[in-house]
Amino acid sequence: MRRALYPASFDPIHYGHIDIAMRASRLFDELIVAVYDRPNKRLLFSAEERLKLVEESLRHIPNIRFAIYSGLTVDYAQKVGAIAIIRGLRVFSDFELEFRMALANRRLAPSLEIVNLIAGEAYVHLSSSTVREIASLGGEVSTMVPLHVQEALRRKFSELRQNGDNPVYMVSMTD
Ligand code: ADP
Repeated sequence: MRRALYPASFDPIHYGHIDIAMRASRLFDELIVAVYDRPNKRLLFSAEERLKLVEESLRHIPNIRFAIYSGLTVDYAQKVGAIAIIRGLRVFSDFELEFRMALANRRLAPSLEIVNLIAGEAYVHLSSSTVREIASLGGEVSTMVPLHVQEALRRKFSELRQNGDNPVYMVSMTD
């Protein structure tokens, strides 16, 4: 069984992630789409909420499984018996970070392959931070995320507004 791991923050999942997961699922017998619980960035959704949105987006694909993980990605990949880690590559700016991360991960776990899939042309501009920012300002994100994610974003920002939190989710362009 050739198993791969697609790890990310998925805050929230969008069509760029979905495209990468679907393409990766065709290359391996099994793909584990894993939500990293506490990335070093400000999160909008909890790990459980992010997992639920990921599951709803991809559960129609029979060879995809879902998980939440913490700690080092390579440790988790080895624990679940993955032979490869999947990462998407968007614009040039992704390359340096992914390249450095791949080399560091190879040093930590030489037998794990890092597989970088080039983003679908229609999704190169898409990032979770863009989605959050547009949604926080009441903008249209229907071309970026599935309906259940749009609804989750609407609910979350209205909750934040009710709690008196600043719902305008201005972030840097890094994702
Ligand atoms: P992380 O915080 O781990 O970068 P993200 O959820 O932002 O988590 O993205 C994780 C992975 O998904 C990365 O490999 C990234 O390149 C890929 N990705 C993000 N957006 C897109 C997109 N629009 N098209 C293809 N891959 C993408």
